[in-house]
Amino acid sequence: MPYLVREHLFIGNIGDAAEVLQNESNEITHILSVLSSESISFFKEWRSGISIPSKEIRKVYVRDMESEDILVNGSKSSLSPDKLLYSLEYAGKDLKFVRMAVPLRDMESEDLLDYLDVCLDFIENSRKEGSVLVHCFAGVSRSAAIITAYLMRSEQLSQEDAIESLRESCESVCPNDGFLEQLKMFEQMGFKVDRASPIYKRFRLKILGDSYNRGEKIDGSKFGADPTLPAEKISHDVETSPEKEAPPTRTYRCKKCRRLVALQENVLDHVPGEGETCFEWHKRRSGNPFNRSDENECSSIFVEPLRWMTTAVEEGALEGKLLCVHCEARLGYFNWSGIQCSCGSWITPAFQLHKSRVDISTI
Ligand SMILES: [Zn+2]
Ligand SMILES: [Zn+2]
Repeated sequence: MPYLVREHLFIGNIGDAAEVLQNESNEITHILSVLSSESISFFKEWRSGISIPSKEIRKVYVRDMESEDILVNGSKSSLSPDKLLYSLEYAGKDLKFVRMAVPLRDMESEDLLDYLDVCLDFIENSRKEGSVLVHCFAGVSRSAAIITAYLMRSEQLSQEDAIESLRESCESVCPNDGFLEQLKMFEQMGFKVDRASPIYKRFRLKILGDSYNRGEKIDGSKFGADPTLPAEKISHDVETSPEKEAPPTRTYRCKKCRRLVALQENVLDHVPGEGETCFEWHKRRSGNPFNRSDENECSSIFVEPLRWMTTAVEEGALEGKLLCVHCEARLGYFNWSGIQCSCGSWITPAFQLHKSRVDISTI
């Protein structure tokens, strides 16, 4: 039996979903399936003899959602563009249920964040029209992670409070550690998936590092756009209101030829001195690690991988020099397994620019 979480919102396992889809339900009208395959035939594979009719409404791929995002702020999802984001169909007895299916495995390394927006919107809309059952295989990790995010967003709860509240309805919920980490990021980003935020960029880089470690070819299309000045960016906007002026931003240029190599938004800040070799004396000396005045301690900045780096990076090397694409001056170094900053912090993977090789200015 599905558990009631909130009015018009249930959580359950695959058995609950099969039961609802094959029979009538007094209450449930919408189903969100989070299984390793989006196909309705997953039910048949799970238990032979089960056959659930379905009729496709639409399939939506990552590129469909991403294109607008790239236009507006150049930000990308961690998922590859041709990956299925979700499928929507009529399903079950008399095709009377609306089922959204999201392909997601219950693994710590799985990218949950990039599915949250569509899932939470589906839950929100379904509750207005009827009642929704969110289910995965066991009803423990994936469905719980999504409902946790939903409670966080709709009730402005911290990750911990949302899970605690969900446990009151269903004791067995337990999202995997990777999902918990991502839900924490979701909280830090203000209950949304902000692809322009440094938190998301670091997450995307970590996923890229994981796929490098699995021996996959690193596709340059996953890299951040070549930096352009904000002024150039704004000119693409048709409706630019004069009062909506861009805040001052820092730019990084090759010291030798002045080619623009990074913008502030490309920089992945780290807390100076944090990491494996963070000694107590160091912490005392530098005082509050969040204090911006400590910034001078780091002799490098670390950035997200950017398009101009691809020739060096795309060949698949573990590490190498980062040369200015214009004058070939050496600007820094990259290493997929990490580089230690002069402050002691380990950055993994690392795309490092030496401060001494770039001109930093604020515009
Ligand atoms: Zn540092
Ligand atoms: Zn240069």
